[in-house]
Amino acid sequence: MALNCVIFGPPGSGKGTQAEGVCRKYGLEHLSTGDVLREAIRRKTPLGLKADELISEGHLVPDDVVDGIVRNRIVPLIEAGKGILLDGFPRTVEQAHFLDDILEEMNARLDVVAVLEIESQELVKRICGRRLCSKDTEHGPYNVNFMPPKVPGICDDCGSDLFQRPDDNEQALEERMEIYRQQTLPILEHYREKEVLIKVAGSGTVSEVRDCLLSEISSKTGS
Ligand code: AMP
Repeated sequence: MALNCVIFGPPGSGKGTQAEGVCRKYGLEHLSTGDVLREAIRRKTPLGLKADELISEGHLVPDDVVDGIVRNRIVPLIEAGKGILLDGFPRTVEQAHFLDDILEEMNARLDVVAVLEIESQELVKRICGRRLCSKDTEHGPYNVNFMPPKVPGICDDCGSDLFQRPDDNEQALEERMEIYRQQTLPILEHYREKEVLIKVAGSGTVSEVRDCLLSEISSKTGS
């Protein structure tokens, strides 16, 4: 049976990077609400215009906006029998309840919420040095401090320009961390009660974290 998972952790904990390995192993569809919003900003859609300033300053986009994105994307996937991996959603207790409601409506359930745990000093280095491919969100990510591209500013995979997210600076990170502590962390209590939580140390190399994550998911789900 298809798995439905959430990858959870503070900004810069490696959710997007680790999501790839999990999706590959379990054949899941990756949905990053941050990626959907950034694409909308790039294309200057009404959603993008609404989200642009909020995201650059490190604030959350309103629940009803992200709830709509998630509903539109996951309902057809679940109907088609696909498993999903949510990255960056839910970020508030209200969003977690919204997700419960959709899954219940569809007779589906959440199997795993994987939490990447990492020290906050490490996050500053990761976030402020992060560079992304302007063409494909699956390329990279790079880090000017510890995973630089071969040619500065250029994606190794496709030769496109790299860019720095406008919210990847110390000031916006402070706001994002505060929101994470105040609004996002309380979600974990909700999932602890549902007995779907697994915790993984997020501070190792990409492959160390991936091995540990895949082994924890396998023990939790028996698959
Ligand atoms: P991310 O790529 O997950 O770090 O998300 C980047 C930014 O997009 C966040 O700092 C928020 O401004 C916005 N965003 C992404 N997901 C959500 C969400 N579930 N709820 C509210 N805002 C979100």
